[in-house]
Amino acid sequence: MGTALCPGSFDPVTNGHMDVIERACELFERVHVTVFVHADKSPLFGVEERLAMLREATAHLPGVVVAQASGLLVDYARRHGIRVCVRGLRAVSDFEYELAMAEMNKRLYGDLETMFMMTRPAYSYLSSTLVREVARWGGDVAGLVPAGVAERLARKYGGQP
Ligand code: ADP
Repeated sequence: MGTALCPGSFDPVTNGHMDVIERACELFERVHVTVFVHADKSPLFGVEERLAMLREATAHLPGVVVAQASGLLVDYARRHGIRVCVRGLRAVSDFEYELAMAEMNKRLYGDLETMFMMTRPAYSYLSSTLVREVARWGGDVAGLVPAGVAERLARKYGGQP
């Protein structure tokens, strides 16, 4: 039990993210779902929109705290007394990047453990990037993202939800 951190860009939140968040909620009393803002990424959705979509999608999960942060993940974790970071692992291709991040975070904050959850096979090729690309050209993203996200994508790209 205790508190875990599920960090990400969530641009936008997908059902793959939701799977990890929901499973984290079964293991931890409180789960901080935190949007980290990177100065060098140019997101499709502004941070307020990403937070709103996350709040909507996690409304049924009483342990979830939706928040935003910039700067180092370890500083956020320290500030909130969080010692577990939960990340999702899709394909082998995620592994190297995730390993580097986990090692760096451990070096910066020795008390922080990174835990990995294997993605449900149905979502193992699902990413925010692919969802944005499909939606941009009018493809159907129903079933891949929460309903509210599909609506916002359709509005953003001028189509019907
Ligand atoms: P980041 O920019 O930090 O990679 P993302 O929003 O892309 O942020 O991802 C946040 C977390 O969600 C990461 O741990 C990532 O591995 C995980 N994740 C992304 N897509 C999926 C998915 N389809 N299934 C499970 N986990 C996922």
